[in-house]
Amino acid sequence: MNSVESVPVTIITGGSRGIGAAIARKLAKAGHNIVITYQSNTVAAAEVSNDVRKAGQECLALQADMAVEADIVAAFEAAKKQFGRVTGLVNNAGITGWLGKITDQKSEDIQAVFDVNCVGLFLCCKYAAREMSISLGGNGGNIVNISSGAATIGGPNEYVHYAASKAAVDAATVGLSKELGQEGIRVNAVAPGAVYTDIHAAGGQPDKAERVGSGTPLGRAGQPEEIANAVAWLMSDEASYTTGAVLRVAGGR
Ligand code: NAP
Repeated sequence: MNSVESVPVTIITGGSRGIGAAIARKLAKAGHNIVITYQSNTVAAAEVSNDVRKAGQECLALQADMAVEADIVAAFEAAKKQFGRVTGLVNNAGITGWLGKITDQKSEDIQAVFDVNCVGLFLCCKYAAREMSISLGGNGGNIVNISSGAATIGGPNEYVHYAASKAAVDAATVGLSKELGQEGIRVNAVAPGAVYTDIHAAGGQPDKAERVGSGTPLGRAGQPEEIANAVAWLMSDEASYTTGAVLRVAGGR
């Protein structure tokens, strides 16, 4: 079993809205002190911070662009200054870019998706592993990456580049779980299906969750809390022998 310090300290990237906000609220109830990063929505970040504090835990909300390494480094430094060694990381920040066929996709949108969903995620794993690795003086820890069901479906006509970025997240999860197991770090992923959040409107299709959800075996889209429940299990000692797993939470799709 990997050992974590008595009060877990967990960084959730993109914790101000949607799935990340639900994860922050859930992990606070599970006794974690929380660091959320966000891109620009200070009001939403403050609301999540208040909810974490109402649950009896401490919360640090940091504006930090997960596509910028200096912001990621600053976030890990601020977290350590406030709480000491980080024991948990949820790589949740993610973007789809504009939904459309490959023939209409812009190079800057494709680049931005990989910058946030892949490069930012890898850098967060790097700085978390430096804090957590037993051979570097850490006490182990947990990393959960938020992938997507799109990684195995491919996202045709909408966002194949996004699906590919999430397939990279799955590969990173498997590889890093093997690399970091002996360091006391478990690395897992949750792959949500369509979930009711603002991400679909940002990509130009506000009704996407409803539309895709109605075609799933369970007949509906998911709620952010249903994804947060899976993340909380993977972060908990109940999942102590689980690493390298990609847990699909997608209503059967
Ligand atoms: P969302 O509602 O659009 O929220 C995105 C969150 O990430 C916000 O907190 C946002 O901050 C933050 N963020 C975006 N870009 C960022 C950046 N460059 N740096 C730092 N923070 C950034 O998204 P969501 O639907 O909850 O998605 C969360 C994760 O789940 C993503 O990885 C997504 O790919 C994955 N996912 C979602 C679905 C779905 O149907 N919703 C399905 C499968 C997978 P601000 O509030 O400041 O903008």
